[in-house]
Amino acid sequence: MTNIIHILLATSNKHKVQELLKILPGKTKSGKVLIYKTLADFPNLPPIMEDGKTLEDNAKIKAVFGVVHTGLITLADDTGLMVDYLNGAPGVNSARYAYADRCDNKANNEKLLKELSGVSASKRSAHFKAIAALAMPTGQLFAEEGKIEGRILTDFKGSGGFGYDALFYVPKYKKTMAEMTEEEKNKISHRGQAFRNISKYLVEL
Ligand code: IMP
Repeated sequence: MTNIIHILLATSNKHKVQELLKILPGKTKSGKVLIYKTLADFPNLPPIMEDGKTLEDNAKIKAVFGVVHTGLITLADDTGLMVDYLNGAPGVNSARYAYADRCDNKANNEKLLKELSGVSASKRSAHFKAIAALAMPTGQLFAEEGKIEGRILTDFKGSGGFGYDALFYVPKYKKTMAEMTEEEKNKISHRGQAFRNISKYLVEL
């Protein structure tokens, strides 16, 4: 029996991979080594059609895509920023908020600031929600959730993280996500929670 299990992280976002490698377990309870690959290790795969209606749909679509195309146990996630004043937007469309056909983080942030222009601090509440999905070659499919509450600032603060991090202020920590160290962010973030929750399946492999 092999002592190494390869797991595909169905993303090619380098920031996300960096975060996930710090969160996910390196070994199972029985001592098998978990080695993580990413979509960058499989350059010839077709593009993933993320056409689900919810974050959970999309996380599962990506996880199943990975297992079908590589045969590896696959982990995927889908994240959304939900702004209360915007009735939950950008939500499932967070990546393609500014342009329907591509993810442009700068343009997404600028659109968010514009949509909230003139809105007072007390009405700028928001949360990040992440769903982590795990697809097994046996056909089993698991999903776990993580969530963090915050507020959208009127200007960027901090240089770490990615995506909407520099606009997302977490009152409990008095910092934006972009002002946190990687360790601080992983400890409290939506994705940190979701992937720690899903790790319970990985350590049993
Ligand atoms: P995805 O589903 O993880 O690809 O994320 C959808 C969108 O949310 C992308 O535009 C990301 O930049 C943004 N996003 C995802 N995770 C984070 C995060 O941890 N902080 C800030 N933005 C994020």
